[in-house]
Amino acid sequence: MRRLRKVKIVATLGPASETYETIRALHEAGADVFRLNMSHGTHDEIRAKHQIIRQVEQDLDSPIAILADLQGPKLRVGTFVNEAEELAEGAAFRLDLDPAPGDAGRVCLPHPEIFQVLEPGAHLLVNDGKIRLKVLDCGPDFAECTVVTGGTISNRKGVNVPDVVLPLAALSDKDRDDLEFACALGVDWLALSFVQRARDVFEARALADGRAAILSKIEKPAAVEAFDAILDASDGIMVARGDLGVELPVAAVPPIQKRLVRKCRAAAKPVIVATQMLESMIESPMPTRAEVSDVATAIYEGTDAIMLSAESAAGQYPLEAVRTMDNVAVEVEADPTYTQIIAASRTAKGTTIADGIVAAAREIAEKTDIKAICCFTQSGTTALLTARERPGVPIIAMTSLLATARRLCLSWGCHCVITPELERFKGAVVNAARAARAGGFAIETDQIVVTAGVPFNVPGTTNILRVAPCDERLIYNTDPG
Ligand code: ATP
Ligand code: MG
Ligand code: MG
Repeated sequence: MRRLRKVKIVATLGPASETYETIRALHEAGADVFRLNMSHGTHDEIRAKHQIIRQVEQDLDSPIAILADLQGPKLRVGTFVNEAEELAEGAAFRLDLDPAPGDAGRVCLPHPEIFQVLEPGAHLLVNDGKIRLKVLDCGPDFAECTVVTGGTISNRKGVNVPDVVLPLAALSDKDRDDLEFACALGVDWLALSFVQRARDVFEARALADGRAAILSKIEKPAAVEAFDAILDASDGIMVARGDLGVELPVAAVPPIQKRLVRKCRAAAKPVIVATQMLESMIESPMPTRAEVSDVATAIYEGTDAIMLSAESAAGQYPLEAVRTMDNVAVEVEADPTYTQIIAASRTAKGTTIADGIVAAAREIAEKTDIKAICCFTQSGTTALLTARERPGVPIIAMTSLLATARRLCLSWGCHCVITPELERFKGAVVNAARAARAGGFAIETDQIVVTAGVPFNVPGTTNILRVAPCDERLIYNTDPG
């Protein structure tokens, strides 16, 4: 699907977005990646959404990335008889281990280990910190609390206990089960929640065994401290501002977001800025000015992707939310200041042949009127290095591997195209020109840059850059190889 912007849009799917018609409309409106949250919904529901996405992908002939988000050691309340309850300030509220559905007076918190370490005076934060409870009395299977800040509590909302260090493993039994399920289904990315150290990533990577790329959600102070090692161990990063803003003072989040985005860009690994980007659009067709500004800020920082959570999963205006992000992105990326900021924050300093070739491709795009950089890639690395250059023209990532095309849907500026396996460079150039024309990026009189590795199909060999015409007759007449 041709986009008029470089930054990618990730849309979480849920009850508000589970039919073929809605998912197709979301992709057409701009969602490049769909997120399936394993914390909500059964395996059957997730499988159904996965199948619909793959159907849309096939019907529109447009690669789509699917990201399965593993719950991780996140504490969540159980369910309620009425699905949701209003908690008023000053009211009493009890948490316990009884699996019976909750009401206005109590709910299950199915984590025995937390009751072991709770103490009177500790605070429990529910739903990304919107509700605050204070523990008055507690035992091995209950906590009597008072509501300090009220609000609506509903099924399976997350709980944070910032005052207490919890002894939690990186992957729960549920996560292992979900990971295997998601990999067998054929998702492209696995997001790991509450990563605390690189070791957590290694563990998941070993279980995934190459079937999916690994994205680490940064939402713990420990992950911010160990970020360099975590980035090194991961294929991508999510700045998960919801829990991060609960675990740390909210004012600490924007500087962390800036730092993490820069580091990911420097490492040529995709980064997603997530949570509450257009939160008011859950209930309103119009975003607030502040939300629009937040989306714009992430784009100016050069993030690979911006994400919708409840806006698209459970809100009333999922399509409008995607369209809003798309419109903001088009405006920001057309701003000359954006180009200046992106250029000034470029950090590519690699010293390989591939680094030189992608930098040259970007320079040609800056100095001349070429319409796209077409890069042939099998592992995806050349496309990631090209994206790191943040060139002004579209990047057409050409690959014969469906899995590579899908994963790259998360990366800045990459328009992914499946090509047949190629043996000769001339054929590659012809294919690139066709893809540029078919995608609406160029016409016959235009020129493109093509990068590839010759001989073909040997990983890590990017060694050719050609400025090519988009007119096939000219390619045949002028191409040396
Ligand atoms: P995480 O910490 O992993 O982001 P979350 O609870 O914040 O978990 P999101 O995926 O960010 O979940 O979605 C935000 C809200 O949208 C959820 O809290 C939930 O109320 C609703 N939601 C999302 N997906 C689903 C779903 N499949 N079924 C029901 N509700 C959903
Ligand atoms: Mg979270
Ligand atoms: Mg969330």
